[in-house]
Amino acid sequence: MSLLTNGESPLYFSLNEKMSAVLFYTLFYLLMSGCIIYPPTEFVSAGLTVKDVFANWLGSENEFFVQYHIRRSVATLLLHSALPLGYVLGLLFFDHIDAEKLLLNDGNYLGPLIVLCATIVPLYTLNKVFEWSVNNWATHPIAKNLSVYGNNNTPWTSVASDINTEYRRIDKIVIVTNSVTRVIATDNWIIKITPYKLQVAHQSDATLVVNKSDVHFMSPTTRDQVQFINIQVKPMRAMAQEFDIRLNALDFKDLQDKVSRPIAVLHNIRFHRTLLDRFIDTFKEEVDKNPFYDTAEELGQCIGCMQALSNVKLNRLCNSTENRDVDDCTTCFCRPMWCIECMAKWFASRQDEDTPETWLSSKCTCPLCRARFCVLDVCLVRNPND
Ligand SMILES: [Zn+2]
Ligand SMILES: [Zn+2]
Ligand SMILES: [Zn+2]
Repeated sequence: MSLLTNGESPLYFSLNEKMSAVLFYTLFYLLMSGCIIYPPTEFVSAGLTVKDVFANWLGSENEFFVQYHIRRSVATLLLHSALPLGYVLGLLFFDHIDAEKLLLNDGNYLGPLIVLCATIVPLYTLNKVFEWSVNNWATHPIAKNLSVYGNNNTPWTSVASDINTEYRRIDKIVIVTNSVTRVIATDNWIIKITPYKLQVAHQSDATLVVNKSDVHFMSPTTRDQVQFINIQVKPMRAMAQEFDIRLNALDFKDLQDKVSRPIAVLHNIRFHRTLLDRFIDTFKEEVDKNPFYDTAEELGQCIGCMQALSNVKLNRLCNSTENRDVDDCTTCFCRPMWCIECMAKWFASRQDEDTPETWLSSKCTCPLCRARFCVLDVCLVRNPND
């Protein structure tokens, strides 16, 4: 009311209020649309994603992988194409703001044009989806893409069922690269899932090249970096589409192990080592300086990784017993049950993430008996009879 006494007209006052309501609604709608297109973790865990909302119609991904993703891509496309119309309808039903005036004003051609476009886009998409769906999706881009791999004119469905069968196996590799993209490697296929697409390459006739990499710092406090690499997947088959996979360098090894062909790495790409890798190396170097622990007893597998033979013993060597302090190392009576690599990882896992420079001089406790030890007490095991 004070505005009126300042000589402002009531019309100006209410128009201003309306505009700020429109602005608020627009910002809110943009934010929600962003979350629908690129769901943050909160949306994913709340089940507000295409795959959760349309779960009944999509069917089972594990049973019919390709058919599932055709439906999922169609649902995503329809939903996204309806977002502008949703905005316009929201404006029209928004009582306070007189939206008809705003959009369908005489002499204002922009408003009606926006309404027209917002209506046409989802209708066009819907029509396209109907066209694709006749003949059991045979003309859908994903089906067309798969038909390239059919030998002797076999239909795309036989390629699809081959992929479905391989996807059902439990030894496939699934790498989630972000909330809307996944990379899957089965025995013979490499598959990239994006919101609108399903891109595939048969491993037997594809070349894979790591052609780009970039490094990001996770946060200003931790000095650890994340490296992303870009892999170009280039199928040799005529008409097959090439695509790029972008993934965390840490996932690269998983993919490499699963893919039957070698993945070429361009000579200018260097894989960065993680903070943990570097720590393990330093830890090993330090342990090498310590005396060996001699034992004739038979050593079993490391209970950390179940792969390497156990080769370290915690043997208190660091300080004498004179000035007993609460922080002093204590004696561990456990048999050698760990390998140096796992012990280094265990050691690192018990340290303060934010101060890696203090790790080596810090203490840790034995994973089994909790005896306190420092890096000077970690001894490699040696059999005196060898
Ligand atoms: Zn181990
Ligand atoms: Zn112990
Ligand atoms: Zn010690």
